[in-house]
Amino acid sequence: MKTFKIGGVHPNDSKISKDCAIEDFPVLEKAYLSMAQHLGAPAEPIVQKGDKVKVGQLIAKPSGFVSANIHSSVSGTVAAVEPYADLAGNPVMHVIIDVEGDEWEESIDRTPDIVREIKLSKEEIIKKIQECGIVGLGGASFPTHIKLTPPPGKVAEYLLINGAECEPFLTSDYRLMLEQPEQVLIGAKIMMKALDVTKCRFGVEENKPEAIAKLKTYAAQYPEIEIVPLKKKYPQGGEKQLIEALTGRRVPSMGLPIDAGAVVQNCGTALAVYEAVQKNKPLFEGIVTVTGNCSEQQRNFRLRAGTPIINLLDAIGRIPKDAAKVISGGPMMGKAVSNLLAATVKSSSAILMLTEEETKRKPESNCIRCGKCIDACPMGLEPYLLVRYSRNGMYDELEENKIYDCIECGCCLFSCPAYIPLLDHIRASKAEVMKIMRSRPKK
Ligand code: SF4
Ligand code: SF4
Repeated sequence: MKTFKIGGVHPNDSKISKDCAIEDFPVLEKAYLSMAQHLGAPAEPIVQKGDKVKVGQLIAKPSGFVSANIHSSVSGTVAAVEPYADLAGNPVMHVIIDVEGDEWEESIDRTPDIVREIKLSKEEIIKKIQECGIVGLGGASFPTHIKLTPPPGKVAEYLLINGAECEPFLTSDYRLMLEQPEQVLIGAKIMMKALDVTKCRFGVEENKPEAIAKLKTYAAQYPEIEIVPLKKKYPQGGEKQLIEALTGRRVPSMGLPIDAGAVVQNCGTALAVYEAVQKNKPLFEGIVTVTGNCSEQQRNFRLRAGTPIINLLDAIGRIPKDAAKVISGGPMMGKAVSNLLAATVKSSSAILMLTEEETKRKPESNCIRCGKCIDACPMGLEPYLLVRYSRNGMYDELEENKIYDCIECGCCLFSCPAYIPLLDHIRASKAEVMKIMRSRPKK
């Protein structure tokens, strides 16, 4: 079975919500739409207090090259355009809407009919994806139209679809592959046309046999898309790891996937592309797993962006008493939620509740030089050494040892028997080294 060669770990996959079919989450009284729902510059609002909006209406435009359109996820009246606290409690510009009814833009095709024929040209597809505000739904939220436009001199050979969903607890991609497999495959075909590639490989981890079987059945009609079962190993869904598993190629240090001739897109992004191009539907909702060992209920919701996390947790019977921490995303790479009033964004994938026992850090002891962190690192780094340099502010040495290649996967932390908070140190120093590198005059 295919996988990446270096490092990786095997956390318990805890897919306890895998049998929960996708349900529509009700639209609430107010929606809080962040202007920072993507990587890059926040969008600029084009609506003001008192404006009437419909579901799918453009409410904010990009403010830079790497930025994206934002559309309303609800219909109603704009109550305010003002800063509102995000997951960490930091003020971020939001458009806040008082919901009235559920009136959609007439141009959106809401029928369940599957549209198979791809009529738009390559250029029209990329324009439509940009207009519909599609961003990567695998974690980074990078604007999709940019990823589908390789820079001059670079050529894409493969489109790779990421259906690995290697983070423990997450099952939103799994449900999507089971419940809307053909739409996801058509989304992949649309992106193949946009990239002008003839080869598409779709990687799914072996712990999702039902999704692999379903996709293979539908892929019989789309022979140019190869469904490839992958070994269960974290971080299989990391771009560089997926490229190695599916093509045998390695992305060079500091390089991009396109340097290995590949463009990687998440399976959720493939669905969003299908909906944009074939149904004229902008990205304003997505599938979100609500889960945790301490929660009696596990759910997968189709959720409008702008829903406060507290309301989502209320819907499953409030936060369990023994939940000590709430995370947006998975336990390995997700972000801690310190403000439960913060709203979801279009790329939200999971809200995870962990107990004190599950989050408690064991007391740190001295490094015993066992080398387990080196064995676990999928980027071939030496985490114990990076931490030693980090503790001493040795930025030149950190750069020489390629700290910039760290993908912040947490495998080193997961494997360390001395419970050293390796990732905390490495993440802080990496940010510092990147700042130093960016400040140097370009040659
Ligand atoms: S967090 Fe960075 S250093 Fe640690 S294992 Fe992942 S890539 Fe390696
Ligand atoms: S895994 Fe922990 S104890 Fe072992 S070498 Fe790495 S930092 Fe040291």
